[in-house]
Amino acid sequence: ALIEWPWKGRMIYHLGLGSNLDAPGRQLARARSRIQKTVGVIRKSSSLYLTEPLGVKDQPWFLNQVIEVESDLSPLELLTAIKELEQSMRRKPGPRNGPRRIDIDILLAGKTVLRKPELTVPHPRLTGLRFVLAPLAEIAPRRRHPFLGRTVSALLRACPDRSIVIRLPAGVSPA
Ligand code: ADP
Ligand code: MG
Repeated sequence: ALIEWPWKGRMIYHLGLGSNLDAPGRQLARARSRIQKTVGVIRKSSSLYLTEPLGVKDQPWFLNQVIEVESDLSPLELLTAIKELEQSMRRKPGPRNGPRRIDIDILLAGKTVLRKPELTVPHPRLTGLRFVLAPLAEIAPRRRHPFLGRTVSALLRACPDRSIVIRLPAGVSPA
């Protein structure tokens, strides 16, 4: 299924959150509360994961989390909302995979498949990144990738990325 049209509203999104600057635990909490206000209801939240940076090695480790949000926004409306939210949290432009105060990515939008210059859904790096798949598998193990047809837990088992991803016990949040 390509994008469903006319837009019917009410979509289940899985969003990936990441931060490695300025007290990451607090940045993720701020992002979640702004998402509740501007995007929709957060139905599920994964644990926080402490993860090794990829690419640019000389930077702090990241805190990552995946949330499930029910929203009336279309995928492109959601992207606009996310970019505004990132800017309102004063994310400064920087290199891909570089340090950032907040990063919010659209991982899945139900069964929707979208390929536009500004938005690719499912997220193109979803299947190759342990720091995305591990928290996603915690809250949505049986969801299927819309065109690969495999479940999230199968994708995690098959993921070749061996970078370090540590699930933090509930209640533990490094600053
Ligand atoms: P990163 O790839 O590290 O997340 P950015 O957050 O700076 O880098 O994103 C760069 C661009 O990626 C955004 O401006 C956005 O238009 C585009 N993009 C494409 N697909 C997605 C997606 N599924 N979720 C979020 N952004 C996306
Ligand atoms: Mg991003």
